[in-house]
Amino acid sequence: MPNILDGKKLAQEIELILKQTIESGSKLAKRPPGLAVLRVGNDPASGVYVNYKEKACDRIGVRSFANHLKEDISLEELREIIKSLNEEKNVDGILLQLPLPSHLDEDSLLRSIDPDKDADGLHPLNLGRLIKGEKGPRSCTPAGVMALLKRNQITIEGKRAVVVGRSILVGKPMALMLEAANATVTVAHSRTKDLVSITREADLLVVAAGKPYLIGHNHVSDNCVVIDVGIHRLKPEEENLKERKKIKLCGDVKMFEIEDKVAAYSPVPGGVGPMTVTMLLANTVDRWQKHCGLPLTISHLLP
Ligand code: NAP
Repeated sequence: MPNILDGKKLAQEIELILKQTIESGSKLAKRPPGLAVLRVGNDPASGVYVNYKEKACDRIGVRSFANHLKEDISLEELREIIKSLNEEKNVDGILLQLPLPSHLDEDSLLRSIDPDKDADGLHPLNLGRLIKGEKGPRSCTPAGVMALLKRNQITIEGKRAVVVGRSILVGKPMALMLEAANATVTVAHSRTKDLVSITREADLLVVAAGKPYLIGHNHVSDNCVVIDVGIHRLKPEEENLKERKKIKLCGDVKMFEIEDKVAAYSPVPGGVGPMTVTMLLANTVDRWQKHCGLPLTISHLLP
């Protein structure tokens, strides 16, 4: 039987640690941690994610600075808002919910976030720190994957890892974190030829392609560990694609085709998704401890 990498359970365990950390540090800090999530426009998926994040803040005692901004906000207006959050002493973390409307330049906005308040680790300085193996906020989704692997005692050192996807948000930082943990890493992308032969070499396969059910039985070798980062809402007419039971969400992997041959896998939902939100909270609490001069007690939760 494969080991199911239960992100929901681990996220709850980490949230409890974070809640206790906030309770015990707030007196000395004289304030709770603060997280500002910037949502621009009305993309429904972003709305759902921002909602999760705000609820998670409430659960553990992080003060949430919600900013739902109009779709046609200008680059300059958004820069001004980020500037004021950079200066706001009650804000420890700032997250710009992606994707942004097409008229806004994502790169320059991410760059305008104070690297020390960069809750999603996407500022070029923090990406550079990741490349150099220096401490700094790390991108939440790959950080969540690393925590899930660590908690389930999955050895990374010496393993052959394949990451499908090379986005700045997931694939690239994921590959760097696995390499830093001494895996030998191959990155595949949309121009990769013969994906099957590459993924079959993996002891550890992380799929972040954003393509529903891209990876199936033939892509995976026996006893591989498979992490499915993708998350997609199936249209009602597609729900029967899942042979055994009806589901509304799916990942990039046909887990029902491979669950009998792999050593471990992360389910969708309940795998990487909850861990992403939890690592955002962990980054925020870590920043808060730093900003308030508290002892840094949760570094072991971060990669
Ligand atoms: P993205 O920016 O669209 O990047 C997708 C990557 O996959 C690109 O590098 C692309 O290659 C590659 N790719 C696309 N089709 C491929 C194919 N047929 N074969 C191999 N590679 C292929 O997406 P993302 O932001 O990284 O997110 C990836 C997935 O993870 C999405 O489903 C997203 O919803 C999900 N996600 C989940 C969480 C979570 O918390 N669970 C968090 C973030 C993202 P090119 O570079 O050549 O275009």
